[in-house]
Amino acid sequence: MRYISTRGGMDPAPFSDTLLEGLAPDGGLTVPEDLPLVDAEQLEAWRGFAYPELAARIIGLFATDIPVQELDRMCRDAYGPEAFAHPEVVPLTPLRGGLALVGLSEGPTLAFKDIAMQFLGQALEHALARKDRTLNILGATSGDTGSAAEYALRGKDGIAVFMLSPLGRMSAFQRAQMYSLTDENIHNIVIDGVFDDCQNLVKALSADLAFKRAHHLGTVNSINLGRITAQIVYYFWAWLRATDDLPAAERAAQQVSFTVPSGNFGNILSGHFARSMGVPIRRLVLAANENNVLDEFFRTGVYRPRGAADTHATSSPSMDISKASNLERFVFDLVGRDPERLNELWRSLDADGVFDLADAQPRFLEEFGLVSGTSTHADRVLAIRSVYEENGILIDPHTADGVTVARDHVEPGVPMLVLETAKPAKFPEIVAEATGTTAQLPPHLAGLLELPQHVAEVESDADALRSFIAERALHG
Ligand SMILES: *Cc1c(COP(=O)(O)O)cnc(C)c1O
Repeated sequence: MRYISTRGGMDPAPFSDTLLEGLAPDGGLTVPEDLPLVDAEQLEAWRGFAYPELAARIIGLFATDIPVQELDRMCRDAYGPEAFAHPEVVPLTPLRGGLALVGLSEGPTLAFKDIAMQFLGQALEHALARKDRTLNILGATSGDTGSAAEYALRGKDGIAVFMLSPLGRMSAFQRAQMYSLTDENIHNIVIDGVFDDCQNLVKALSADLAFKRAHHLGTVNSINLGRITAQIVYYFWAWLRATDDLPAAERAAQQVSFTVPSGNFGNILSGHFARSMGVPIRRLVLAANENNVLDEFFRTGVYRPRGAADTHATSSPSMDISKASNLERFVFDLVGRDPERLNELWRSLDADGVFDLADAQPRFLEEFGLVSGTSTHADRVLAIRSVYEENGILIDPHTADGVTVARDHVEPGVPMLVLETAKPAKFPEIVAEATGTTAQLPPHLAGLLELPQHVAEVESDADALRSFIAERALHG
């Protein structure tokens, strides 16, 4: 299996190469040349597998340049009990009203990004060793992505992490998670500024090609195809678990729908790939918060990214986006994988800040099963309260956006699986507002807040950051 660019200007490359680069060299996103197809017989043959084994089988359809035994080991390590406390890794929990939660937040940082990052950490280490290279990951975080990357890359050979975070802007839990790490390859850097200042410093250094090359700088952002690939696995897993109790003869025909709390369109893109590969998925329901540029797109076909002034800070902060970086991969499929047509649309986006696919909008549902909805703070509070009252289960605000939108799309006979993207203990304020109770941290994290913290303060200045990195980056 080889990988090409949505913009048509890249020679086909193997899976491992796509892990080390961000954008394709022509500015597009990498996609598989064709998606592997999986039939009902194959799905049944995988039914008895534990999560790590299933992951190795499915990722193996994409990562054909990684030896099978190596992939088995990587998935066992990525999804072992050290990272995922829950024995099932991704447990399903039924809720009243035809819904079930798909638990994606059992990993070290209690959010779904761990699932992709834990695999990516293994895959990067492997790819670097094979090329005899090192990689210095540079990133900015307002909390969640940075910690998932650090937990996935701590102690990995050939990799160092330089993670910028804004002073005084993260929760006590997020600070404790990141700053308590003592691994030598993890460098937490606090910047006296806001998240955008951190992001601008990362952009300045990434645009400095000479510096970037000299110090082997890279990123593990949400367009990384290794992350998207690892996320495909749980759509297979969730369908298998949702159909376990059916008579064997009825399983293949049983469709399920998924609702996905969405930001950068990474998670739901993996669902789109799983559906295209043959998982019996009826609807993929995209749930947005007040920053609903994607809900607008799926309802109208018009995609109009927003400026910073129109991007709101909400109580489901990991979905606060102005544009959705992975949407290009879906649009590529929508336009029949025609790079000419895709380039036209993105030229219009660059020139006018918008493109219009209103003519194609009916196909979103008809061909791709995609529908969408928006949820607000008041909806989140209601959803957290009602799920608690009806089931005795606490959910986090992102999952609450999912539950809100999912309830509008439940159909008789079709289980509606809502992806649980974070644990409620990370968001105590809104959980208390909704229920008057607080969610407990899992027992293995109970002492986290008391651990000593280590973080370097660096001036909000590109040169200061350059010299900090130059002194500590891995070379070779
Ligand atoms: C990142 C994140 C999302 C959004 O996922 P995308 O892949 O960006 O669409 C939703 N919920 C939580 C908790 C997240 O961390």
